[in-house]
Amino acid sequence: MRKPFIVANWKMHKNVKESVDFVNQIKSKLPDPNKMEVGIAAQAFALPSMVKAAGNSGLRIIAQNAAAEYSGPYTGEVSLRGLADAGVSYVMLGHIERRRLFGETNTSVHQKVQAALQRGVTPIICTDETMVQQVVNDEIHYVFHQLMTVLHGVSLDQIKQVVISYEPSWAVGAGQHANPTLAEEGCRLIRQTIAEYYSYEIADKIRILYGGSVNPNNIKDIIDKPDIDGALIGRASLDLDNFLKMISNA
Ligand code: PEP
Repeated sequence: MRKPFIVANWKMHKNVKESVDFVNQIKSKLPDPNKMEVGIAAQAFALPSMVKAAGNSGLRIIAQNAAAEYSGPYTGEVSLRGLADAGVSYVMLGHIERRRLFGETNTSVHQKVQAALQRGVTPIICTDETMVQQVVNDEIHYVFHQLMTVLHGVSLDQIKQVVISYEPSWAVGAGQHANPTLAEEGCRLIRQTIAEYYSYEIADKIRILYGGSVNPNNIKDIIDKPDIDGALIGRASLDLDNFLKMISNA
């Protein structure tokens, strides 16, 4: 049984005080961590204070990106070593905004995935429709190749911890979500690809999240689909009541 995972992606919103206040308010209202996992991906400067505020509440504090390099002359980058030291448990890698605005590629995401696994920070690997929709057009090898470029070298043991998200680029930040059937199809194809490359047993264990304009009204229909194990939520996660509503509706 895969544990649902609800992740807020705050992008470049909220300062330290706003982030910590949110954590302090939500931490006593979280669902049983044995039944559902909840996390917040915030700006790097807020993460250590959020980890401290979250304490042992089970709330996951997540980085939105990190460098593949261990340390060195990479001005402006955030190291995985530093994130691990700060108690950050997950890192989102390859988000569509990173790909679209900052030129990230499957190759650079692959390097970051490797580095995150080595440093003990669990990757949430973001994929979009270019890695999925091609299957619909009978290009299964293309999808297979794209996803496998990112996962290349990830061992059987490591793949079990990885979380994958499927976020059609046209649905992210657009106020227009994929209908649940399409969202399910994307997630199912990713699971099928994992099954072909690794095994059915592993594919059955991996959590795949849908992202793209999820809100309190549509989350249930999306998350009820068999291959969708949670949601990555941008805009609608910024407001505490809204986020709590989505957690309880999921
Ligand atoms: C996201 O940032 O990953 C996202 C899904 O944003 P939104 O929910 O605003 O579409």
